[in-house]
Amino acid sequence: MTDCDVLIVGQGLAGTTLAWQLLWRGVAFHIVDRDEPVTASKIAAGLITPITGKRVAASWRYDELFTAAVAFYRRVESQTGTPLFSPRSVVRLFQYDADRKQYEKKRIDFGPHARPPAPPLDEAEFRQTLGGFEMPAGQLRVPDYLHASRAAFGDRFRVASVDASELEIEPDGARVPSLGLRARAVVFCQGFWNAENPLFRSVPFTPAKGEILTLRVPDLREDRTVNRGVWLVREGGDLFRVGSTYDRENLDHRPTAAGREEICTRLREFLRLPFEVVDHRAAVRPIVDRRKLLAGVLPHQPRVGFFNGLSSKGSLWAPHFAGQLADVLSGRGTIDAEVDLARHWGA
Ligand SMILES: Cc1cc2nc3c(=O)[nH]c(=O)nc-3n(C[C@H](O)[C@H](O)[C@H](O)COP(=O)(O)OP(=O)(O)OC[C@H]3O[C@@H](n4cnc5c(N)ncnc54)[C@H](O)[C@@H]3O)c2cc1C
Repeated sequence: MTDCDVLIVGQGLAGTTLAWQLLWRGVAFHIVDRDEPVTASKIAAGLITPITGKRVAASWRYDELFTAAVAFYRRVESQTGTPLFSPRSVVRLFQYDADRKQYEKKRIDFGPHARPPAPPLDEAEFRQTLGGFEMPAGQLRVPDYLHASRAAFGDRFRVASVDASELEIEPDGARVPSLGLRARAVVFCQGFWNAENPLFRSVPFTPAKGEILTLRVPDLREDRTVNRGVWLVREGGDLFRVGSTYDRENLDHRPTAAGREEICTRLREFLRLPFEVVDHRAAVRPIVDRRKLLAGVLPHQPRVGFFNGLSSKGSLWAPHFAGQLADVLSGRGTIDAEVDLARHWGA
């Protein structure tokens, strides 16, 4: 049997980010992933925005989490030699009078995170009847982050599936016979597939499927991301991504005609230019009901950890909380109470 400190199950945004945080703390880890062809991380747009949602609300703990995220991705970029993160403004157009009123009410509190669009969007490209505002934001190239990280992890990574029922948990660690590995702790970062894991059945999961399109829009010159019910972000050249839908009923990875129609209809409400759909994907976002996310070790089984529920904010949230979990796994530090698995276990 090979020995290591931590085995991470799942190399999506959650598992990858935890692996880097462990690496930088000198903790010996292995990471496995069973290479599901479509995952939330593989199709995510990676947008990070300070003001979100129908209520035009400030994103939770934005300044602190954004600072941590940018420092984290810059460090990964310098170690992998791969560009991953870019600052990217978002212009949010008001959809209803109610959005505009919410914005007016909160504008002073938003401070430097919101300003009038400068320059204004081109009227020939976008309908903007109710106006809007611009916010400095960012974007992580999530698939590139996963690939570059996997390469950097070298033989600490392998393609494998680990089933929680095969763990042989001992007082000082856990054995995983199928991998020939003994770890001081095993951390599950399975995203949507947490539903298969009997150890975490009591976590109140409320995942949501999201569909996303890739478009060719040959005549569009605007480089900022534009959001009005759906966001439209330049991928490169004349290719753009647009999304996404939110479906809590049909939890599968199949793109649907209804999803495509919903996105195209919303897009046509504000984009005046013709476009062609060139790709269509769907995946399920892992969401923990009424919580931001959950991270930590089981209160009754400290050899088993969990990092999940990154919902639509994985790129923003993962670095800070993976850092806290890495501290706990290396024997120091704590997880913030509002996301600590141990405090919410059974709640
Ligand atoms: C359409 C869409 C758009 C999105 N856009 C954004 C966005 O703009 N910004 C943003 O921040 N977030 C966005 N998200 C959300 C983001 O994708 C998620 O927060 C994040 O990807 C979740 O990462 P994860 O690692 O928890 O889960 P996943 O990405 O699902 O990864 C889980 C991994 O675990 C592996 N796995 C599962 N079970 C096992 C097992 N038994 N053994 C081995 N491996 C296993 C799987 O193969 C998978 O690779 C979007 C999501 C969707 C669906």
